[in-house]
Amino acid sequence: MPSRKFGAQAAAAEPAPVRPARLAPPPRAADVAVIGAGAAGIAAARRLMAQGLSVVVIEARERVGGRALTASLGGQAVDIGAHWLHAANANGLVTEAKRLGRALFDAPQEPRLILGDREADGRETAAFHAAWSDLFAAICALGEDADLVPCAAALDRLGPEAARFRDAVAFAHGPFACGVGLETIGAADFAAAQDDLDLFVEGGYGALVATLADGLPVALATPATRVDWSGPGVRVETPRGVLAARALVVTVPAPLLARGDIVFDPPLPATTRDALGALRAASYEHVVLAWPGGPLREAANTTVAFDGDAADNLGLLANFDGGAMHYADLGGALVGRLGSPEARAAFVREALTDRFGGAATAGLSVLHASRWGEDPWSGCAWTVAPPGAHGARAVLRVPIGARVFLAGEATSSTLWGTIGGAWAEGERAAGAVREALGVAVGA
Ligand SMILES: Cc1cc2nc3c(=O)[nH]c(=O)nc-3n(C[C@H](O)[C@H](O)[C@H](O)COP(=O)(O)OP(=O)(O)OC[C@H]3O[C@@H](n4cnc5c(N)ncnc54)[C@H](O)[C@@H]3O)c2cc1C
Repeated sequence: MPSRKFGAQAAAAEPAPVRPARLAPPPRAADVAVIGAGAAGIAAARRLMAQGLSVVVIEARERVGGRALTASLGGQAVDIGAHWLHAANANGLVTEAKRLGRALFDAPQEPRLILGDREADGRETAAFHAAWSDLFAAICALGEDADLVPCAAALDRLGPEAARFRDAVAFAHGPFACGVGLETIGAADFAAAQDDLDLFVEGGYGALVATLADGLPVALATPATRVDWSGPGVRVETPRGVLAARALVVTVPAPLLARGDIVFDPPLPATTRDALGALRAASYEHVVLAWPGGPLREAANTTVAFDGDAADNLGLLANFDGGAMHYADLGGALVGRLGSPEARAAFVREALTDRFGGAATAGLSVLHASRWGEDPWSGCAWTVAPPGAHGARAVLRVPIGARVFLAGEATSSTLWGTIGGAWAEGERAAGAVREALGVAVGA
């Protein structure tokens, strides 16, 4: 049985992946260099190699996968980052999972509702679900009209019945779904996001992404510090030496590029820099709980919502993958206010104790609290576009000097914030590189 205290071990740096990728040795020069071995970088490298181009991927961490990581906690494979295969009908990872023979499971759509310390009754739950759908529809209607209003403007359009659950649904669509409050995200960005079927994958999402890096030439523990694209190709500087290539795909998270973690010489165009600066970093963190005797034990793979303040709440995915573990998820400004993984774990324990009582939480153990916001290679959970900034994502897709191409969740207009979006963008960038190099070869 794991310790019930949130001690040094639970707070320790990120746990190791369940299975490291089996990588090929990286060359010192290649047709294309790819910076970052998350979903976008892996997809780009696979597609570039399938197109017959030689590739070298450089990755700052000692593992692949970026914000997708499956680790073993309490004897179970647990996603420390992304877990839901969103927009399954448009998600290339669903195709890859099927090809690899990984089972896929329907993810829950409608949450259970806890009011105070009790389960909402059927009528209350139905009213809550209606408020949830009403707010979603109201935001989308606003977003389709114009790109200048925040999602929060839709709260005033809720009818009297739905208004009773105003805070709970504002939390659900804001910090819980988007990693920011509804006042921060533009209705156009929200409305553009594709949202159909959600799935879970056997063995974890991070493990699937890492498996797809098998055979790729990735240099781990090799952060890019400077990119010189003043000549006909690109030169990428790292503490381990300089790599030369004809073209470059950059999949580093947008907030890290915005703050200048990589120096570009010459600087990136002003339009690109403005677009990077226009996006906002979203915050989202898991606190992984083992709670065998807890009050939610019948609810396998179920999301649980609570009444409470829109900016000060948590959401649960109870008994994920059929075990006795829960994700308690925190998002938005609360993550920054709490300030550390230890404080986030304490907040979750206290919130659940306030609701269910000390006897109920006596058997609760915190197995891990994620630290993506503190992580130097992520800087955020994902990006959102505030009012007026949704178009920044398209600007980031514009090739730079026919040899530098940005890709990642931030460059997707319709699947932003997701692994599926990052994957599609990596493949899109690989296609753009082929076109650009084809033009250069023929010139
Ligand atoms: C807690 C949490 C939960 C989430 N839940 C979901 C979910 O359920 N479903 C979903 O689809 N998405 C989810 N997401 C979002 C999803 O994880 C990201 O959108 C996606 O992983 C982004 O992929 P990417 O390739 O764009 O970026 P990343 O995965 O961040 O890859 C970028 C890579 O670049 C590397 N890098 C950074 N700087 C440098 C440098 N200077 N030199 C070399 N390498 C560098 C990084 O180490 C990283 O490996 C979640 C994210 C978090 C944090």
